[in-house]
Order: sequence, then structure tokens, then C-alpha cells
Amino acid sequence: MYQGIAASPGIEIGKAFVLKESEININTTKITEDMIPAEIKRFEDGIAKSREQLIKIKEKAERELGTDNAKIFDAHIMVLDDPIFIDEIREKIKNERVTAENAVYQVVEKYVEMFQNMEDEYLKERAADIKDVGERIIKNVLGIPIQSLADLDEDVIVIAKDLTPSDTAQMNKEKVKAFATDMGGRTSHTAIMARSLEIPAVVGLGSISKEVIEGDIVIVDGNKGVVFVNPDEETLQQYNNLKLEYMKYREELKKLRDLPAETKDRERRVELAANIGTPKDVKGALENGAEGIGLYRTEFLYMDRESLPDEEEQFQAYKQVAEAMNPRPVIIRTLDIGGDKKLPFLEMPQELNPFLGWRAIRMCLDNPHLFKVQLRAILRASHYGNIKIMYPMISSLSELRRANAILEEAKDELRKEGKPFDENLEVGIMVEIPSAAVIADILAKEVDFFSIGTNDLIQYTLAVDRMNEKIANLYEPFHPAVLRLIKNVIDASHKAGKWTGMCGEMAGDPLAAPILLGLGLDELSMSATSISQVKKVIRSLTYDQARQIAQKALEMESPEEIKEMLQKVLEEIK
Ligand code: PEP
Ligand code: MG
Repeated sequence: MYQGIAASPGIEIGKAFVLKESEININTTKITEDMIPAEIKRFEDGIAKSREQLIKIKEKAERELGTDNAKIFDAHIMVLDDPIFIDEIREKIKNERVTAENAVYQVVEKYVEMFQNMEDEYLKERAADIKDVGERIIKNVLGIPIQSLADLDEDVIVIAKDLTPSDTAQMNKEKVKAFATDMGGRTSHTAIMARSLEIPAVVGLGSISKEVIEGDIVIVDGNKGVVFVNPDEETLQQYNNLKLEYMKYREELKKLRDLPAETKDRERRVELAANIGTPKDVKGALENGAEGIGLYRTEFLYMDRESLPDEEEQFQAYKQVAEAMNPRPVIIRTLDIGGDKKLPFLEMPQELNPFLGWRAIRMCLDNPHLFKVQLRAILRASHYGNIKIMYPMISSLSELRRANAILEEAKDELRKEGKPFDENLEVGIMVEIPSAAVIADILAKEVDFFSIGTNDLIQYTLAVDRMNEKIANLYEPFHPAVLRLIKNVIDASHKAGKWTGMCGEMAGDPLAAPILLGLGLDELSMSATSISQVKKVIRSLTYDQARQIAQKALEMESPEEIKEMLQKVLEEIK
């Protein structure tokens, strides 16, 4: 049995698909003259194989993602068909007597560098395509299998060191039944993605990707955070039963779907909303009874692609969500890139501490053009529903003011162009940096609402990297320092007549629900699948009980004490 971190609930049993990081070893020794023809043939076979693969991928992408999204593979195929590129590699093998893979590597590096140094943004972006194709050719020349989560043809449990957002974006969602990864914590993007796909996941397993072999039978228990590899008959039987029980429990919770999240005595009602990453997630949000979208993470629109989405494309995505949710509110968070989220087409600096670096609003304020394109798209979409804007990673009043100044410019432009938008659109900020939580009274005067981003707030308050499984035990939502900051934010907003929500993962934790309710949060936004569990807790308490629990928690001195009390509360209302 492997113990990891329970990242997404549920139980699955199935065959392992191991996503390996392949090691590429380039042979740099010189070849002899008589080896030249064989080496050229190796190269040509590699090209042919790469073409075959890319055509298949392109056809699949066209079927599943539409022609526009499949275009990138045309660019890849074009590189393979470029006679100058091909001849240069052939000549290199012949004249410099280098191995096929070494010749490809050198020529690709040359072109990548050349494109990277170009002025034109579009051409600059092509460097990534050439690098991608180059790697594919080299792998094919070396006979290294190329894995992708896109072309699975049977149900699998994905085992990997870690999953990048683009791995998960490309994958065949019908076939992937669960994740188990070496890296990550509860708030890593693998975990968040698993919850939004409603599949079980266990992360932070250490080295499971090295120990599992393709085809092994794996049990992923996302409730307890454990994984079994090739379990014995007894365990298998036990887990088959547990899986059925869990499915029944989910069915029970579904019955709460259309009931309000109000306390037993009807003294207090909170809004339960869903976090989404793409317009496709709206369906799951509505199916689980979300009263709104409390966090639309727009960065996914920017991530799985080769160039920036333009205003029109963004507008269409935001409009689609606004219309589908209307009249329910949709909080669109502006681009939160950096940290563990990189964009392939945007040069991001290598940083020693990316989570403390050039990310989110900081990057947007330094790139007002890019930022304004997004703001214009959100504003235009606001005409079609109940949209609110939210800035991530605000740490000071001046950042908020600078962001608002760009928003005003975008509004002016649209007014001049005669393009309609919601003139009363609310603008809020994420409170996810301790400095913002501490000066919440100052910020409250200039925002319409706050949304507490506990994923980052906890990591910054406790100085615990949210991605580092080695210190996952220190990542503690119930630390008294975190609870005091949350209280400070809620109180400051209410004093100023504003409202506060929470969109970090803590919002979806049933154990935290009594405290958050008692502290007076107005909205809780979470993975859609957590809504009914949290609702169940809220509906089982009176408002007075919740306030007393919150008060008691604030007087306690350690997370252990607080959690013990909360466990008892949940036991009682079970
Ligand atoms: C957070 O930090 O709590 C949050 C919701 O944002 P993200 O997880 O996208 O950083
Ligand atoms: Mg955050």
C-alpha cells in the first residue's frame, strides 16, 4: 500500500497507464564513412514515423477539438516537410559524420535559437513548434516510445511523476478514470483538475511512477489518500464493496442539489458556488447545484495552446459561461499565470522562487496590453449575464488602483466603440497574500467584494510551498494564524458594507464548513462535487451553533485541538 495525499474523492480500480519521463541520450561520437547511409536511413525513418503520428493526432484533434485547435499540428507537419530543414540534417550526417539524433539535435537547436531571437511575436512563437517536432523526431530515431494521454483506447488509471496542465488538457477524459502521482499536494493543479473532472486522485506518493508497471492492477482510494498495486483478492473484494458504497453515498448527496444552503434555523443562508477552469465545467457546476461560479480560472484558456487567445476568442468563452449561468453570478478571475503555471508562448523568467515571483497581477500590470485584451473581453461578455471581475494576487492598494485604471481605459474604449457592457459590474480581489488580509480594511473601501484564496494564503502565511509533498504536513488550513486572517478579512468587508467569499480549497472542506459559516462568510466556491457535502453540514447546524464553534476555534491554540473539535461536530451531525 502506498500512502499519499487524498486529492480528489472517490474509489477506482483499473489498469495502470504509466506516463514516463523519457530520458534522451544523444550519441555524440563520430560515425565512420560506411555508416553514413544507415544513419541517413535512420533519420528518414524517424521523419516518416513522426509524420504518421502527427497526421493521426491532427485527425483526432480535428474530430474532438475542432479545426482551429488542430491547426498547430499542421505547423508541426510543415516542419517535417521543409526541404531546407531536411537537407541540412542529411548534409550534416554526411559531412560532419555525426549520428542521426545528434544532427537533428544540432539543426533544431540552431533554428530554435534563430526563431527565439526574431522580433515578430508570431515567428518567435514558432520556436516552440520546432522544438516540439525536433524532440519527436529524435525520440523516433532513437526508438523511444512517445506517450500521450490523448490516444488511449481503454480505461486506465494514470500514474505519473506529475501531470502538467497541458497533459491533463490533452487527455482523453472518457478513458482516464483516476490519477496517482509522485508529486503534488491537495492544491496542486493535478489535484484541482481531478476534482473538476470528478475522478479520484492521490498525489504526493513519492516514487510510485517508478514502481508501477504498465498494466498493473491499481486501486486508487481518493478518500483516504492510498493506492494499492496488484492487490490480493481480499483487498480487491473489499474495495469493490467500498466503491459501491461510495457511489451510493454520492447518490444520497445529490438529493440535496436543489435545496438552499441555509442553516437549520433558517437564520443564515450562504451562497454555494463552483470553481471552474473552462466553459465545459459549467455543466458539472449546474448538475451539482452551484448557485454561481465563484472562481473562473481563466489561465486554462491560455495554457494548452501555442499562441495568445485574442479578444474575440476570450469573449466567446466568457460569454458562453455567462449565458449558461445567467442570472447566477460568474466571477471571472483575470490571468493568474506564473508560479507552477507557465505559458509556452510567453517568455517567463527562470526564477528561484516562482511562487514569490513575477506572476498573476504583477505580470499583467507589466503587460498592460495583454491585460487589457482580457479586460475588454470580460467587459463585453458582461452584457450577456451576471459577470464580476476579480484580480488575483493583490498585495497592496496601489496594485488594485493600477489594475482598476487599466479597467477604466478598457471601459472608455468600449464606450467609444459603442460596444455594450454592464456599467454596474462588480470588481473584487482575491485575498491570498497575507499583506492583503492584514490591510483588508484599507482595501475594502475600494472593492465590491473579497474572495479569500486559501490555497495561496496558507502557503504564504505559513511559508509552506503548496506543491512540496515533503512539507505537506505543515500545510495547515486550521492554523490559528490562518483563521485569524480569515476573520479579519470577513469583518473588514462587512464593516465597509461589502461581502466576502472564499474560493480556495478550504471552502470545499466539510470539516471547515462550521467555522466558515460561523465567521460569517457570504459565499463559498469549491469544486462542484464538494457542494452537496458542504451543504449537508450547513443545513445540519443552527447559525448560533456555527458562531459558537467559530468562536471556540478562535480561542484554541493549535490546529490539532481545532480539528478534534470539528471532527466531533461532524460525527454528531452525521
Ligand atoms: C487560491 O490561491 O486559493 C486560489 C483559489 O487560486 P489558485 O489555486 O488558482 O492559485
Ligand atoms: Mg491563488
